[in-house]
Amino acid sequence: MGKEGKPSPLDMFMKQQEDCDRPACEDTVNALNSALSRLNMKSGGDEKKSVKAKVECPPSKSLLGDSSWNLLHSMVAWYPDRPTIEQQTKMKNFMEALAMFYPCSYCAADFQENQKKSPVKTETREDLCIWLCEQHNLVNEKLGKKLFKCDLKTLDERWRKSSDPDCNK
Ligand SMILES: Cc1cc2nc3c(=O)[nH]c(=O)nc-3n(C[C@H](O)[C@H](O)[C@H](O)COP(=O)(O)OP(=O)(O)OC[C@H]3O[C@@H](n4cnc5c(N)ncnc54)[C@H](O)[C@@H]3O)c2cc1C
Repeated sequence: MGKEGKPSPLDMFMKQQEDCDRPACEDTVNALNSALSRLNMKSGGDEKKSVKAKVECPPSKSLLGDSSWNLLHSMVAWYPDRPTIEQQTKMKNFMEALAMFYPCSYCAADFQENQKKSPVKTETREDLCIWLCEQHNLVNEKLGKKLFKCDLKTLDERWRKSSDPDCNK
């Protein structure tokens, strides 16, 4: 424990190891590595400046879409296999709110319409992952993009745990 009974950064790091197959863990490791390389730079007197990636302000529709799908597919990949009623309700509300507030008006209107035709399936993780994949495929089809194979094994390989370094084919 750190000061005043608060968990120290090390306590927090160790706690996160329980979740270590999730994306959050990778970020922790990245954060530690970049802190270490900053220390190395200081001690070695190396004045190398880090190169920042160019940021789009505001994000383009494509960047926003890609970031949104990344969040959505990752989130449902870690949804419980047997969710409680409360978890199911919260997930349903989340998808409906996203379709209401998504900041591309015609994308939002179509997502709302598609949820009316095919309401979000929250009873199991598999149901939800496949439902989201099919929703994404509706947009892919509209944009003339390749359709994704919507079975849990393929989705988990892409979004949860990949054994293939070239997983995003
Ligand atoms: C709710 C929503 C509605 C949208 N509606 C529109 C729209 O109406 N018009 C428009 O121009 N853009 C829309 N977009 C944005 C669009 O879907 C893409 O995000 C954007 O064109 C960038 O495409 P991308 O090629 O980077 O890959 P994205 O389509 O963003 O996909 C990201 C990654 O997801 C994976 N993937 C692809 N399909 C699936 C799937 N079915 N299941 C699981 N994983 C998959 C692939 O590995 C891909 O690399 C919408 C985005 C969202 C979140």
